[in-house]
Amino acid sequence: MLLEIKDLTLLYGRIQALHGISLTVNEGEVVALIGANGAGKTTTMRAISGLRPVASGSIVFDGTDVTRMRADLRVVRGIGQAPEGRGVFPGMTVMENLEMGAYTRRDRSGIAEDMKMVMDLFPRLAERRKQHGGTLSGGEQQMLAVGRALMARPRLLLLDEPSMGLAPMLIQQIFEIITRINEQGTTILLVEQNAQQALSRAHRGYVLETGRIVKEGTGRDLLHDPAVKEAYLGVA
Ligand code: ATP
Repeated sequence: MLLEIKDLTLLYGRIQALHGISLTVNEGEVVALIGANGAGKTTTMRAISGLRPVASGSIVFDGTDVTRMRADLRVVRGIGQAPEGRGVFPGMTVMENLEMGAYTRRDRSGIAEDMKMVMDLFPRLAERRKQHGGTLSGGEQQMLAVGRALMARPRLLLLDEPSMGLAPMLIQQIFEIITRINEQGTTILLVEQNAQQALSRAHRGYVLETGRIVKEGTGRDLLHDPAVKEAYLGVA
């Protein structure tokens, strides 16, 4: 087991956003976290990456309790995140943004290899390598955020709504890329509004409702679950 979360609670002031979340991610898996707006998906990701302190519960990554570890040290341990809302550096070029993703690494040849891998995955970024992040289209910034997260060579990649705001053709492409990244050996925890795509790509999934896990199963089982279909897949 690569990630094990137990009974996690998290507060924003007096608002309780997570009410005892437990989930696991095994090495090599793609796990999808789905749920309505405000269910707590992004909050769960923030707790795992260390961007928000948790109130109680535990987060164990690769056998180490990281519940209260600093966010940057979690990156060093192998937890990488492409955050919702992209967060690319607008004044830096595509290349510089990608290099920033590798700031914790010292293995120059490995970094060069991964730069090539990211450029192969995202030919659009390769074409625009000298362009400033702030001048990329929304979809291109999304790709850059994923590429930058990959540059840390994470063991666990946290992807928060990678398909958000993308045109249908690009949505298809980003999910294909997610599958390829996984096939190349990276474990992925994926938050998505696009439940259909996410569950059809994921080995397993969890359904989050108002800060609680209400259902879990294989991607396939959840795709065919009548309640999930009705609530998240837009079919009765
Ligand atoms: P979406 O799909 O809309 O992004 P989500 O499932 O990712 O939703 P979260 O962003 O995790 O949901 O939010 C969970 C709950 O916590 C929501 O009710 C939200 O209003 C609240 N919340 C999130 N961030 C904060 C904050 N900084 N301060 C106060 N409340 C917050």
